[in-house]
Amino acid sequence: MKSLKIPVVYFSEHEQSLRREIRQFIYDQRENGTFEPKCDSWLSGYSPQLSRKLGERGWIGMTWPKRYGGHERSAIDRYVVTEELLAAGAPVSAHWIADRQSGPLLLRFGTEQQREFYLPKIAIGECYFAIGLSEPNAGSDLAAVNSRAIKVENGWILNGSKIWTSGAHFAHYMISLCRTSPLNPERRHDGMTQFIVDLSAPGVTVRPIHLMTGEHHFNEVIFEDVFIPDEMVIGEVGNGWKQGMTELAYERSGPERFLSTFSLLEELLNVLQEKPDKQLMGELSKLVSRLWTLRHMSIGIAQMLQEGITPDIAAALVKDMGTRFEQQVAEIARLLVSVSPSTISPSRFEKLIAQAILHAPGFTLRGGTTEILRGIVAKGVIAN
Ligand SMILES: Cc1cc2nc3c(=O)[nH]c(=O)nc-3n(C[C@H](O)[C@H](O)[C@H](O)COP(=O)(O)OP(=O)(O)OC[C@H]3O[C@@H](n4cnc5c(N)ncnc54)[C@H](O)[C@@H]3O)c2cc1C
Repeated sequence: MKSLKIPVVYFSEHEQSLRREIRQFIYDQRENGTFEPKCDSWLSGYSPQLSRKLGERGWIGMTWPKRYGGHERSAIDRYVVTEELLAAGAPVSAHWIADRQSGPLLLRFGTEQQREFYLPKIAIGECYFAIGLSEPNAGSDLAAVNSRAIKVENGWILNGSKIWTSGAHFAHYMISLCRTSPLNPERRHDGMTQFIVDLSAPGVTVRPIHLMTGEHHFNEVIFEDVFIPDEMVIGEVGNGWKQGMTELAYERSGPERFLSTFSLLEELLNVLQEKPDKQLMGELSKLVSRLWTLRHMSIGIAQMLQEGITPDIAAALVKDMGTRFEQQVAEIARLLVSVSPSTISPSRFEKLIAQAILHAPGFTLRGGTTEILRGIVAKGVIAN
């Protein structure tokens, strides 16, 4: 067995000062009514206004080169900003995917023209991306992707569909993994290519899929003879699988994988403090100590990114442990405090617990299910 080493990070004075700056900004936004804290705000809290303000402050595309509109800051600086936004339950879904994974993917595999065109728009908080991986018959088994692009003069013609696409109804583009050569059963991962699909192009239909809350945040996206110019191929034709796996490491590695219910945890503390009880506080402290451990692991992953290491195995581990933690916050809050959860309740606690309970089933599915992540961790730590 190989051991998994996640570095320990201590924040510098500069990083502490950045934390104070973002905290003050968030406080001001809450005070002026830009948002109210929400569970799962990174996937279901949409505010183009807040995204633009964050872009103006230089808090999107933080680690990217300045020549592409970035700010050449460290992965730890980015961690500090994203952690504070998530802890505050701020509505950041508009730009989240573009900042977290589409931009870094273009930076790594995109052409110079693509980087110059898309990255500055993402960094000012005005260009949003969606993830085009899952299909009706390809979720965990992504090699079963069946959307097909056929080569024509100057581009490709795409047919097929994607499903569960978060934010496709407001995103400008989707990075879509498609089959560009017929499936070879012996080498199922070959013959796939990533494309940037303009979601306003003729032939693209975005249909809403409503959650059981009635909310709309993900979609079915249908492609009917969509023309994709050659300039929108990402990286090498046929290399889509490898590139897609890199994208998943960015997707799984951040603090959003354990902070989706942090606003509820914070409110639980406020509620329990009203009538302190040793046993209830004991339960709460168990949650807080788990949170602290997860946080240190997650910061360590940011440090790995800073050092240029692809943290795929560590990210899979933290995502598995983190998403189960955020689900358990909802469950334990429900058991500790007797209330009637309601998304329209005037009580903040009742509202947050309702949001958490209704969103929790998706935490361990999106970005790779628990079973798939454990498979990755198990294979990753077995010595070759
Ligand atoms: C809230 C939310 C947002 C999402 N947003 C997006 C998005 O923006 N873009 C996108 O592309 N996708 C998105 N998804 C889809 C998500 O990535 C898939 O749901 C996930 O990968 C699982 O695929 P599936 O739903 O087809 O389930 P399946 O793959 O059919 O899995 C069903 C069950 O079988 C288990 N299973 C499958 N294969 C194995 C195996 N080999 N070994 C052990 N167990 C296995 C799984 O763990 C799961 O429990 C989102 C999903 C959710 C819930």
